[in-house]
Amino acid sequence: MRQHLAAALMAAVLPICAQAAWVAISADAGKRIEIDPASVQKEEGNRQVALGRVLFDKELTDPRSAGSYKSIETLTRYDCTLRTYATLKRTWRKADDEILRAEEVKNAAEMPVRSGSLDDKLLREVCRPRSPVAAQSAASKLAEKANEAALDLRRANDAMIQQQVQKEFQKNLKQAGVAPVRTPAVAAPAAPKIAAAQPAPRPAAAKASAPTSAAARSHAHIHWAYEGEGGPEHWGKLKPEYAACASGKRQSPIDIRDGIRVDLPTIEFAWRPSHFRIVDNGHTVQVAVGGSSLVLLGKTYELVQFHFHRPAEERVNGKGFEMVAHFVHKAEDGRLAVVAVLIERGDENPFIQTLWNHLPLETNEEVAPPNVAIDPAKLLPADRSYYTYMGSLTTPPCTENVQWLVLKQPVQASAEQIAIFSRLYRNNARPLQPGFGRLIKESR
Ligand SMILES: [Zn+2]
Repeated sequence: MRQHLAAALMAAVLPICAQAAWVAISADAGKRIEIDPASVQKEEGNRQVALGRVLFDKELTDPRSAGSYKSIETLTRYDCTLRTYATLKRTWRKADDEILRAEEVKNAAEMPVRSGSLDDKLLREVCRPRSPVAAQSAASKLAEKANEAALDLRRANDAMIQQQVQKEFQKNLKQAGVAPVRTPAVAAPAAPKIAAAQPAPRPAAAKASAPTSAAARSHAHIHWAYEGEGGPEHWGKLKPEYAACASGKRQSPIDIRDGIRVDLPTIEFAWRPSHFRIVDNGHTVQVAVGGSSLVLLGKTYELVQFHFHRPAEERVNGKGFEMVAHFVHKAEDGRLAVVAVLIERGDENPFIQTLWNHLPLETNEEVAPPNVAIDPAKLLPADRSYYTYMGSLTTPPCTENVQWLVLKQPVQASAEQIAIFSRLYRNNARPLQPGFGRLIKESR
């Protein structure tokens, strides 16, 4: 009986990949958009759900898992009457068709389909009449797919949820003294959301960009990352606007050494408690707060966002650190100042714990806890002496003219807290850049 059941299960599960009969809908530089007509299943109303995929010519690196993938499968619901579609699930598959990662899309948005577009082609293929037999076999396949998806997702999130449940501590701060979260004027140094979402396009997203130069075209499908084709050594040629990453002479990070020891002006921190929004943007975990600023030499810089790297990008006299938090500030005239707080292994850090408690389960989906506030000043070390030098953003477009303020005294986070970040980003640090004789100053 058990053997019979196992055999039946194997028979039910195995043929899913083997039987997918992909039909190309479009093909252009580097990728093919395909659909599995046998997967089309009718839903209530005049709606159909179908499995499609973007198959890339080369393997790409997934910034989230650091694994490589060859295709992204999308489960999409088409409304044949309203001519809209919604992406329900994305699955990144390796070259051997194994699943690398899967994401279900919650509250999937209904997107309009314009006639003559690639979506239109897909919609017409999915919405054309089909025989009842084909539809039935597709229905059972889809049910299995759904089960498989649920399982993947549960496994992937289990450990994280455990952490959250155990350590959840809600701070119901009084509204008084709690600033609202401001809208960031600087999405950088992490990429804008749309760009960050591009490794997981709806089939329609494929057609979006029309780069000009031939060089740009050949790299058009490669998104910047920390490894592989989109890795730091290639950033400068991925897009014309990333040129400074390769040609700049004041790039960051650097090994901070041989600084001149002088009396530096005090950084006047005016970091305040506020509500926050946290997002995993595919490159880092980034947090937006409101009402915080600093004053340096009479100039006010507003705190726009902060984010983390592992390991720390900057070194101090050759010494590396487990992690770093970068607090990106912007003055009214657009000048940027970034405060770096180095993080070493040690005691649990309550500030970081609050952030980790609210880590989003999905990339590019912001979490904004309504009743929780954070005080970024809690991450500042007691000693505010610092190193300073002129550098750049450490992510594309690697914009220069950024004043770096690297605090000398590290703060601590527990091994477990560092491990949590490692699960998302094992390595999201740009390698050291040449100093080109830049002056470094340090507080004495
Ligand atoms: Zn950074």
